[in-house]
Amino acid sequence: MSQCVDPIVGKILAGWRYDISGLAPEMRGDYEDHFRSCERCRTRQRLHRTIDISLIILASLSAGAFLLAFGMIRHFGPRHALWLELAALAGFALSALIWLAVAVATPAPTAMVDAAKIGARHVHDRLPAEIRDRLPEELRLKITGS
Ligand SMILES: [Zn+2]
Repeated sequence: MSQCVDPIVGKILAGWRYDISGLAPEMRGDYEDHFRSCERCRTRQRLHRTIDISLIILASLSAGAFLLAFGMIRHFGPRHALWLELAALAGFALSALIWLAVAVATPAPTAMVDAAKIGARHVHDRLPAEIRDRLPEELRLKITGS
């Protein structure tokens, strides 16, 4: 793997898990420059955001699975149903907690909003001009940023 072009900046970024989304725009410039010029930190940043988003998706799936289990126990009503229901609810609560912790502690939500924006822009650019013109001005502003 290639070396960091500026180990001091690289170390600071590593301490932030390569997340500069919380920084004020005027402070962000130097770090953005570093990401542009440093292959290693850019790769790390992408890796960390991938981990964050995977965690969110996993926690969502797990919460969904526990809810489904709860629903099935209610539906079929096996013996010891109460304990199984409690276990399913506890599992759901735990998944929700993990989901919340990831959402609060990592920039995953911002990363997902960014991804959604890029997707929306992509769709917007492919729309026929007459439909595009009918979009409300403020919506278009939000999607394209210009
Ligand atoms: Zn670097």
